[in-house]
Amino acid sequence: MAIVYFENRFVSEENAKVSIKTNSFHYGTAVFEGIRAYYNREDDTMYGLFFKEHYQRLFQNMRILNMEIEENIDQLVEITAELVKRNNHKEDVYIRPIVYFSDLAIGPKLIGYTAKIAIYTLPLGDYIDTNKGIKAKVSSWTRLSDNMIPPRLKVTGAYVNSAMAKTEALLNGADEAIVLNQHGYVAEGSAENIFIVRNGKLTTPPVNDDILEGITRSAIMQIAKDNSIPVVERSISRTELYVADEVFFCGTGAQISPVIEIDNKKIGNGDVGPITSKIKDIYFDAVRGKVKRYRDWVISIK
Ligand code: PMP
Repeated sequence: MAIVYFENRFVSEENAKVSIKTNSFHYGTAVFEGIRAYYNREDDTMYGLFFKEHYQRLFQNMRILNMEIEENIDQLVEITAELVKRNNHKEDVYIRPIVYFSDLAIGPKLIGYTAKIAIYTLPLGDYIDTNKGIKAKVSSWTRLSDNMIPPRLKVTGAYVNSAMAKTEALLNGADEAIVLNQHGYVAEGSAENIFIVRNGKLTTPPVNDDILEGITRSAIMQIAKDNSIPVVERSISRTELYVADEVFFCGTGAQISPVIEIDNKKIGNGDVGPITSKIKDIYFDAVRGKVKRYRDWVISIK
C-alpha cells in the first residue's frame, strides 16, 4: 500500500480519506502542484526536479486564496523527498501536493476556513507523447482570464476550462487542445505551456496573456539562452501557429511534447524539428541530474 502525507503525517493511502462535506471539494478552491522525480538507472538514484520552485508557486497561490498551512516550503521539500523514499520508487514518478479547505462547511469564501495539505506520489512515464509528435486543435473554449479565475493560479476549479478544451480536442481526433485567451491570442495547452519556433527563434506567450507561469517554461528559456537560441515572450496570433517551423508543449507532466499538426495542418514538414529535439535532449538529461550546468534543478533523494 502506498504511503501518502495527510493531516501532518505519513499514513497509508487507505487511511487518507476526506469527508464528502469538505468545503474545497464543492467550490473548486483547492490549489495544487504537479511535480516530478526521475529515476537515473546509471547511478541508481531518484532525482527530485524543482521541488523548491513548485512549493514557492504553491505558496504564491495559497496567498491569493488566503490559505495558511503548518508546514513551510523547506519542510515540504523534505517531506516530499521523504515520501519518495518511503515508497521505494525506482521509476519516474509524479507527485501531487494539494492544499484544500478541510472544513465541513458550506459557502464559497476564502476566509474563516482551515487549509490542509495532502501529498501523494504516482509512477508516471509520459503523460502525453514526447517522441513522435502530437496533433493539436485550437479550442472553441476561451482560456479563463485574470479577473475571472486567474490562470496564474493552479486551482482545481480552473481545470473545468482545461477539461472542456481537452475533451473537445480528443473527441475531434486530436491529442491536445490549444486555448486562446479572451483577446484571441494563443495562451497555452490544457495543462502545458507552448512555444513556437520561427527562423531559429523561440517565441512563447508572456505571463500576462492568461497562462500558468510554468516552471518548465522557465527551464526551457534557460536552456535556449545557454545554447544561443533567441527567445521572445510576446503574444502569438492563431495563424502564426500554422506557419511556425516547429511547435512544442511543455510542462512538468507533459515534459516536452512536439506538436506536428495543428487544425489538420502540418507544422513545418510534419516531423519533430531540430530545435525541439535539441532542447528535449538537454532537458531529459538535466532532469536525471546528468547535466552539470543544471545540477541545481534537482535534488538527489538518498
Ligand atoms: N499550464 C497549465 C494550465 C498547467 O496545468 C501546467 C502544468 N502544471 C502548465 C502550464 C505547465 O506548468 P509547469 O511547467 O510548471 O508544470
